[in-house]
Amino acid sequence: MTLLRRIESIEDRESFIPHGEIEQLLNETKNPDTELIREIVEKSLQKERLTPKETATLLNAEKPEQIELIFQAARKLKEEIYGNRIVLFAPLYIGNQCINNCSYCGFRAENTQVIRKTLSEEELEAELHALTSKGHKRLIVVFGEHPMYSPTFIAKTIEKIYSYKNGHGEIRRVNVNAAPQTIEGYRIIKQVGIGTFQIFQETYHLPTYKKYHLKGPKASYMYRLFGLDRAMLAGIDDVGIGALFGLYDWKFEVMGLMYHTKHLEERFGVGPHTISFPRIEPAVNTPLAQRPPKPVSDEEFKRLIAIIRLSVPYTGMILTARESPDIRREGLRLGVSQIDAGSSIGVGSYSNQDPETIKKSQFILGDTRSLDEVMRELAQNGYIPSFCTACYRAGRTGQHFMEFAIPGFVKEFCTPNALLTFKEYLIDYASEETKRIGERLIESELKKMPEERRKVVEKLLQKLEAGERDVRL
Ligand code: SAM
Ligand code: SF4
Repeated sequence: MTLLRRIESIEDRESFIPHGEIEQLLNETKNPDTELIREIVEKSLQKERLTPKETATLLNAEKPEQIELIFQAARKLKEEIYGNRIVLFAPLYIGNQCINNCSYCGFRAENTQVIRKTLSEEELEAELHALTSKGHKRLIVVFGEHPMYSPTFIAKTIEKIYSYKNGHGEIRRVNVNAAPQTIEGYRIIKQVGIGTFQIFQETYHLPTYKKYHLKGPKASYMYRLFGLDRAMLAGIDDVGIGALFGLYDWKFEVMGLMYHTKHLEERFGVGPHTISFPRIEPAVNTPLAQRPPKPVSDEEFKRLIAIIRLSVPYTGMILTARESPDIRREGLRLGVSQIDAGSSIGVGSYSNQDPETIKKSQFILGDTRSLDEVMRELAQNGYIPSFCTACYRAGRTGQHFMEFAIPGFVKEFCTPNALLTFKEYLIDYASEETKRIGERLIESELKKMPEERRKVVEKLLQKLEAGERDVRL
């Protein structure tokens, strides 16, 4: 067996999700003291990652005053570490062919009611035209799992996206959500310069995983579990993990996410860039999605957001438009750092909305507001909407940690860069109302800066006014 094959062979690696240990921790930490909860959240506020036992204890906090302690601490940590920037992106579905049969997904192979489609080159351009005309700069490209979507196909698609120009419009960062690849496959994809490679384990609970993934390559829990290890081995050091909530006990899934983070940190010295925690949404002709086996209530969902925030203070958290505007607002306060906006998830549906769109979609969205509406609301609520891609383009990927590890980095670089990308949006794409509210936000952010920094940023803002683009620190 060659070395490459040996590393890819997962039979000789043990799962890093210790099912027995997780169940034991969740059992032995039941009915915690409020004092203990207070101690644990204090540790989080010192910006330290929690141990699995501490996370299990927070998951078992059921008393209202304990839950309130957790919410308050999560809000504080969010403000202290991430400040008021929110990164915005849009999902771009490239194709919904799929050879797997995930019971919850509208794209599953046996779903005969879904319209199968893969974007042609012209259709991809039309989608990019629609997205860049609205002001989007960051995408996540999404694929079903199918031999058509080979690493070369994925890489070529991304290359086309980067080379697309629409006046001032261009895509500056492409993240990927696709099937787990071989190490060689990842190398091909890495060459074109991707942002984050995301794979969601769906459920970390092995028996549940087996039950809902009966067919195709995704039936192998272990191949998927080590999917991001292979990405790292191929040199992609920017990865995103996730679990699909609603398949198994939410507390077990949060523990799974924590053990996954710990594993990547221990093996590669860097944890995941982002964590996603989608809840199952309805999908065409998909009974399991209509009635998930272990539904997570809104209250539980807020708790899990806050507990993830407190458990891994430095990891980005993504909350997509699967959720309603209200839940998204709460999520932002409790720890979410990235959201999509103006999303459309039918294949080809940014440029061509038709009555059949729903049949080309993986599931149904909860937040269908336009990018402009979301940008306006964020600004109104004191958040800086950001399309910043400065670190990634300066080669500082996988080191997002630096943003937080270097004292003052966020204030020095992240906030000014967020303001610059926001200003660019206001000049090129915003409605009058958003422009008015946005300019006011920029003014108030400038006032918060030390004089020297403010002068630098004001100069850069003037460059944007004068027609320069992609100005960053
Ligand atoms: N086909 C690849 C895969 O499964 O990894 C790529 C991504 S799939 C198109 C994106 C993610 O959508 C899945 O990993 C799953 O977590 C999520 N998903 C699938 N069905 C869903 C549903 N009904 N509601 C919400 N999210 C869903
Ligand atoms: Fe295919 Fe991914 Fe949907 Fe599963 S979740 S059926 S692999 S598109």
